[in-house]
Parts: sequence; C-alpha cells; structure tokens
Amino acid sequence: MTKIRNEGLQNSKVMEIAFQLTEVSGPRVTNSPGFMRAANYAKNQLAQWGLVNSRLDPWGDFGKGWELKKSYVAILSPWYRSLIAYPKTWSSGTNGPQTGGVLLISAKDSIELNGYRGKLKGKVLIVDDLIHYEPDFKPNPERRTDEELQEMSELTEAENKAALRRRLERNRAQNGISREMLNALKLMAVNEGATALLSSAADNNSGTVFVLQAGPYKISDPANFLDIVIGLEDYNMIVRLLRNNTPVKMEVDVKTAFQSNDTKGYNVIAEIPGVDQNLKDEIVMLGAHLDSWPAANGATDNAAGVCAMMEAVRILTAIGIQPRRTIRIALWSGEEQGLLGSRDYVKKTFGDFSTMKLLPDYDKFSAYFNLDYGTGKILGISLQGNEAARPIFEKWFIPFHDLRAKTVTIQNFGSTDHVSFDVLGLPGFQFIQDRLRTQHSNMDSYDHLSPDDLKQSATIVAAFVYNAAMRDQKLPRKELPKLNSIDPTTGFKRQ
Ligand SMILES: [Zn+2]
Repeated sequence: MTKIRNEGLQNSKVMEIAFQLTEVSGPRVTNSPGFMRAANYAKNQLAQWGLVNSRLDPWGDFGKGWELKKSYVAILSPWYRSLIAYPKTWSSGTNGPQTGGVLLISAKDSIELNGYRGKLKGKVLIVDDLIHYEPDFKPNPERRTDEELQEMSELTEAENKAALRRRLERNRAQNGISREMLNALKLMAVNEGATALLSSAADNNSGTVFVLQAGPYKISDPANFLDIVIGLEDYNMIVRLLRNNTPVKMEVDVKTAFQSNDTKGYNVIAEIPGVDQNLKDEIVMLGAHLDSWPAANGATDNAAGVCAMMEAVRILTAIGIQPRRTIRIALWSGEEQGLLGSRDYVKKTFGDFSTMKLLPDYDKFSAYFNLDYGTGKILGISLQGNEAARPIFEKWFIPFHDLRAKTVTIQNFGSTDHVSFDVLGLPGFQFIQDRLRTQHSNMDSYDHLSPDDLKQSATIVAAFVYNAAMRDQKLPRKELPKLNSIDPTTGFKRQ
C-alpha cells in the first residue's frame, strides 16, 4: 500500500494521460475520428507500460460515425450577433451558408402543427416556449460534507428502496415540449426544406450549453434534421422578438461528416496477467467509458475516469506487482447511448442479461470497479446492494482515511457501466465521488479537471484492484437477479 501511494501521489502521470485523451484527441463521440485517436493512444500506451493483449475489441454493431466540420450560427437582424451554438450529434449540415428568417412555431400538438404546412422552406425554426431562468446561488462545484457521507454509510436497505421509488416518481413527473410534436415538426422540416431547428433548456445558461444527440445513428436510419442547441438567453430573446412581430434573420453554416465504412463499436481492453497457477484464469476488472459528447473534449465525462483507471494500472506495473488473478482494464464506447459497449462486452464474455444464460467465464469473475462521476476524488464506494462486501471494502479503505476515502454505502448508483455487470449478478461497483463536473457541456474541458483529486482516485483504484487480485476468495456475490427484473440502463429495479 505504501508503494502504491508513493507511485500514485508522488510520480503521477494522470494529467499527461488526461491531456492525450482530451486536447490531443478532441471530442470522443463513439466511432468518430476523435474517439479512434483516443482509443489508439490508450491501446498503445497500455502496451508500452507492459500490459498484454492490448487491443480495440469489437463488441457489436454501433452505427454511423459523426464529426462536426464547421459551425457558424449568427443573427443578422434586427442587429448582428454570433451565437454560442452547437449542432446536436448526428445532425445533418446546411450545404453551405444559408440565410433566412426565423419562424416561431406556436403549435402545442401535431394537429395544430398542420397550420404551418407549406411555410417552412428556408426557415430557421424555433418553438414558442419561453424557458424560465432560475438564478443558482449555490456554489458550483460542491464537495460532499462529512455529515452527508455519514448519512450515506448509515442508510438501510429499506430507506434506499424508498429513496429510489421517490426518484422514479420525480422522473416520471417531468415533461417539456412533447416529443411527438417535435418529431412531427422535424419530419415536416426535412420534407419542406427548412434550414435548422433551434433548441434549448433551463440548464443552458451563462455560456454553458449541454449537447446530446439529434436522433438515431444506425446505418438504416435516415439523416437527422439539423438541430442546434443555443443558450436560453438567446433562445428567449428570439422568441420575445418574434412574439413582438420583430422579424429575426439568421445565417447558419453547418458542415457535418458521417462515417459508414466501419459501423462496429470498439472497447479498448488490456491485461496484467495473473501468476497464481490456480487463480490466473480469474478476472478482476476496472474501467470507465472513453466516449463523450461533441461540444468540448469530454474532460470530466469521462476522460477523468479513463485517466484515473489507466493511471491505476500504470501504478501497478510501475511497482512491479505480480497479481494472483488477471487484472483487465476496459475503456468502453457507446456508454452515452445506453451503456452499449459494456453491456455487449459482458454479454459475449460472461452471460446474456436478456436470457440469463451464463457463459463459463461467469464463475471466473471476481469484481468490476468503475469511475464515471467526474473529476472529484474518491470518498467511498457503493455496495450496489451487496452487503457482504461491506467489511472487505471498509478494511481496504483503512490506509486511505487520511485522503477522506472511507464511506461504504448500501445505496445503489446507476446509469453507468458497472450496471452492465450488476444486472447479471456480477459484483460491479461505482465509487462515491465529490460532485465536480461539467458533463455533456461545451465547458467540459481540461481546465475543469482537478489534478489532486485524480491522483487520489487513481491511487485508491490501484489499491482496490490489487487487493481484489490478491485475496484468497473472489468477492462475494448477490443472488442472480430474476429475468427482466432490472432496467439494464439505469440499473434500478423495474416497478
Ligand atoms: Zn459519463
């Protein structure tokens, strides 16, 4: 543990790895050139450190690659201003610069939308829906407090279930403009030759905007209409001017490129081979998702997790460990589209969640450790409902109490790659982290990474992976879940 700490805290390479993944590679949308640059860097770097079988491992069919080649969005009248604006992933382009008026769409459903038929050609579209701006007086980012961590460690299984139920109900209660109306509008826009659709949301303010996808991306899917995210301040201004019968004219010039030569999705996989004759076929895994969204370099979501995991295996090779079990690192793709890379990897390696048919390696698996909640340091770990693992993890945290890492909670964490293991009853864990991140936004950049936090995380992951590879038994497991009892994306029990 002392060697791991010294290597991780004194000789860290974590920010050099982060630089390669973010500023050298660029945005890492699955199957985009930026993703492939980062994946090839990781594959070569892991091999250089001495890991074996370092490779791009195809997991199945993903779909089209996509890259933004040019984007210029400006208001020309009533006066000039260029906008903070990002086309959503898998949007089509404009075929050169287009100027045209903005059309305010005041329809509330697809029947009212029929009134706009024949009027969309050459227009930029905006839905008549002012977005409420709520000033945020809380500091951002925030560290978790000792009281909050104490509460997490004392949470009971019953309280955890009740909290999950409340969260599901809250999610169900949320709704904005109807998706059905929006889809009908986009279809009409394509058919009539409109230029673009402007989108926004309450979180898109103060210069930060969140950019996801315009629509599906399979080879068989038609091209998506150009859907551009802008800040709510500009969105509301355009809506107010149009409501006031002041015409708004815009120029939009967007070029996007699609790649359809190779539609397979790839994870990066590499190993430190085990040396114990009886245990070397058993596997301890660590990982994080390598893919990101396109508006920045995906620094906190999730180059942070990837660089900490890569640094963890670098630490272990640098101090020359001889693990009893094989240690396998996985850098996933397609996470942002629904944990696709990890789910299909688990399916082809350990067993199929949709049938609960298990493969021979299912019994050789010990545990998977994941990092995906940003750049914040590790404060503890979620048991994912696996109470038998509590005393093991409590012991493993003892050498790191001075770094604030000690909380073990029964609480379930969801919506990232450990869920792909958990749904099959395999021990998959996500660490508790400080909430410091700017995920999915145009500000998810290198400068938002916190170097000391990443060094701490990599060191603790290295220790956990080492302990799991060396202990006499594999980690304890929960019961095999019943078929279809868990949502495979969120990881939460189906109601
Ligand atoms: Zn993520």
